[in-house]
Amino acid sequence: MTTNAFPDGAHPIAWPDNFKAAASFTFDVDAESCTIAHDPTSTRRMSLMSHQSYGPRVAVPRLLKILERQEIQGTFFIPGFTAESYPDVVRRIVDGGHEVAHHGYLHEPMQGIDAATEANYLDRGLEALAKVAGVRPVGYRAPWWELNWHSPALLADRGFLYDSSLLDGDAPYRMAVATDSGDSRDTDSRDIVEIPVDWALDDWEQYAFYPGVTGSGVIESPAKVLEMWTLEAEAHHAQGSCFVLTNHPFISGRPSKAVALEQLIERVKAMDGMWVTTLERIAEHTKTTVNEIHRHARIEVPSYPGAGASFKPARLLEAIPR
Ligand SMILES: [Zn+2]
Repeated sequence: MTTNAFPDGAHPIAWPDNFKAAASFTFDVDAESCTIAHDPTSTRRMSLMSHQSYGPRVAVPRLLKILERQEIQGTFFIPGFTAESYPDVVRRIVDGGHEVAHHGYLHEPMQGIDAATEANYLDRGLEALAKVAGVRPVGYRAPWWELNWHSPALLADRGFLYDSSLLDGDAPYRMAVATDSGDSRDTDSRDIVEIPVDWALDDWEQYAFYPGVTGSGVIESPAKVLEMWTLEAEAHHAQGSCFVLTNHPFISGRPSKAVALEQLIERVKAMDGMWVTTLERIAEHTKTTVNEIHRHARIEVPSYPGAGASFKPARLLEAIPR
C-alpha cells in the first residue's frame, strides 16, 4: 500500500543518521494514583485498587519482557506515588535501560491550579523518583496531558529538557517558555522541547473500562486497535514525523492487548528508516538541530464592545476520570 502524506509544515525537523521518521513507545504507570486523584475514597475499594495495581504488579514485568525481546527502549512516565508504592518495579524499568520521566506526584488534576501549587507537585514527584531510583528525569508529561500556560517556565526552572503533553503537532519542536498574552510580551528567553501527543494514540480511549469510574463499557478488539495504530504509524512514517504511542500498563499490559502491542512494535520497527527510540533521545536531537522556537499565544475570550451582544458559555461537560 502506498501512503500519500504531507509533512507537518509548522514543525519541520530532519532526523539523524538517515532516519526518515521517529517512533516512541511510552507508558504512563499511573497505577492507583489517577484513581485517588479524582476520588481519595477510592482507596477503600479493594477491587478498584486491584484493577490499578495490575499495572505495576503484572503488566510492567510483561511489557519489559516485550521491550527486551524487541530490543527497544521505552519511556515510562511514573507518578511519584507509584514510584514510592512500587520501588522495585521502577528499579527494574531503570535496569532495563528505559527512560523514567515525570508524571506528577499523585497524578494531580492540573486544570486551574496556580503555579505555586503546580511547583509543589513537580518537586514532590522529583523527590520521589530520586529517592526510589536515583533518577533525575529530563522529561515531563502532565497528568491527563493537561499543561497550564505557566507550566513550561516551571519545567525550565527545574532543568527539564522536554514536555510531552500538547496536541498541536505531528513532530517535536522547540517551545518558548514565554507565552504572549494580549499586549504583553513575556521576556523569558528560555525554551524546552515539546513532543506532541494524540488522543487517537492513547490506549485509554480504546480499552479502558471500570464501572462507574471510566469508559463506556465498550472494550475494543485489539485487532481493530492494531489496525488503527498501524495506519497512524504508517502515515507518520510516510510524512516523516513522530509517532508517539501512550499506553497504560494496567490497560495495555493485559494478555491480548500486550500481544497486539508487540505485533505493532514489530511492524513499526520494520518500517524502512523508522527511528524507534526514547522521547529523551528525540528531545535531545530536537534541541540540538532545530533552530526555530515556537511561541504560544494565550487565548482570551473575545469581547463584544458596544455590539449589544454577549457571549454565554455552553454548559461544561463533566470531566471524565481517566
Ligand atoms: Zn497518567
